Amino acid sequence: MKRILPGLGGVLAIVLLVLFVNTLRMPSRQLQVAAVEPAVIPDRALEHLSAAIQIPTISTDDDTRFNSAPFKTFIRLLERTYPLCDSLLSKTVINRYALLYRWQGRDTTLNPILLTAHYDVVPVDTSYAGRWAEPPFSGKIDGTFIWGRGTMDDKLGVIGILEAVEGLLQEEFVPERSVYLAFGFDEEINGLQGAARIAAYLEERNIHFDYVLDEGLLVGRGLVPGITADVALVGLSEKGFLSVKLSVIKEGGHASMPQSETVIDILAEAVLKLRRHRPKARISEPVERFVEFIGPEMPFYQRLVFANKSLFEGLILKLYEQSAAGNSLVRTTTAPTIFSAGSKANVLPGTAYAVINFRILPGETVAGLFDHIQKTIADPRIKVMVAGAAVEPSPVSSIDSQGFLTIEKTLRQIYPGALIAASLVTAGTDSRHYTGIADNVYRFSPQTATSEDLLRIHGRNERITKEGFKDCIRFYRQLLLNVKR
Ligand SMILES: [Zn+2]
Repeated sequence: MKRILPGLGGVLAIVLLVLFVNTLRMPSRQLQVAAVEPAVIPDRALEHLSAAIQIPTISTDDDTRFNSAPFKTFIRLLERTYPLCDSLLSKTVINRYALLYRWQGRDTTLNPILLTAHYDVVPVDTSYAGRWAEPPFSGKIDGTFIWGRGTMDDKLGVIGILEAVEGLLQEEFVPERSVYLAFGFDEEINGLQGAARIAAYLEERNIHFDYVLDEGLLVGRGLVPGITADVALVGLSEKGFLSVKLSVIKEGGHASMPQSETVIDILAEAVLKLRRHRPKARISEPVERFVEFIGPEMPFYQRLVFANKSLFEGLILKLYEQSAAGNSLVRTTTAPTIFSAGSKANVLPGTAYAVINFRILPGETVAGLFDHIQKTIADPRIKVMVAGAAVEPSPVSSIDSQGFLTIEKTLRQIYPGALIAASLVTAGTDSRHYTGIADNVYRFSPQTATSEDLLRIHGRNERITKEGFKDCIRFYRQLLLNVKR
């Protein structure tokens, strides 16, 4: 026994030494680039965003309520505001409201790049409308902010890109590669009429992009635990999704003599099984990349965990699982969204149904998930059907491409205080429609947000700082200046 103890002590010392050496040797992935002198952006750019916000281009799930007038007004606003983009670039209107511009580069033998954004917005919850600090479509500019629906999602992208391009056209700049600009009008209701149609149009013409840049993540302030600096997050992939409808039919009857099991019992049991047997948590490729970027910047003990992630994987997953946002990054999530049965207090219903929405982690599939659902429920009385569109997780883009390097360099130039990290987008964006016609698809929107600001997206009091919007324009401008062969 005495002889084993010093032996164990020796092994422990060696293990600790290895852990420490790994930690100290974890190299920083942050690119060293000198900041650039911020470009002068005239205040009229703020007026342009404000004018765009004032046009209520609202997407609703109900097709019959589509009001085309604001979309036409918005297109006319762009024509008036950006005369050089409108005349010097070749412009195609697809499916009436989707816009595609082509800016010819110096070397047309190179694959072009695509900058994209959407100009539809989500409706304003009327019960909240009165509780906005400024009316949601006022586009009010005060001392610090521009206010209104679309300032963060995603008119800042549309106006930011066009401001940058219009400015460069004025200076007679020609990009190294050809640049396409695409603006969808139904991203908030899946993009099938806008981005999907633009992508189909480009595919028919055999146009293939070096990379696509769309919204998705942003510069987070205080969003990464353990890191005090801002972190510019670039999405390499987005989760897939699947909704299933579970239904049960059984003889109903009088509530005074209930059977041992009612449709509600059977359905509730199935939903509970799915909630209790969730797909396993795991570190997918984009989250692994995130750990590689952020790990070296962490305080020592967190760095120790990240530098030895194969040993501490269980611990890392536990940390992620503590919050709903963290949990969504490490597993295919299971969210019951509709549960319906019965209509009268003294009648046992004959049918019941529920809808469960799943968001699928990269590396998993719709078919694999459907299999998991059926095996977990394992009850022949429950009919399981796919409800609506099922979307596979998008492919994971490379962090070693020329495109990623250009984005990284631009971020260091425009947001010099921010760290950069690749990550995973847990929501859906228009960019998934372009994955088939691009080597890589990156998801980043040039704006800075705290956790409180994130609630404004699709919520109330959506706003952006005036300087933040100028940085958005500077980001696209610098990115175009940085486009490489
Ligand atoms: Zn959006």
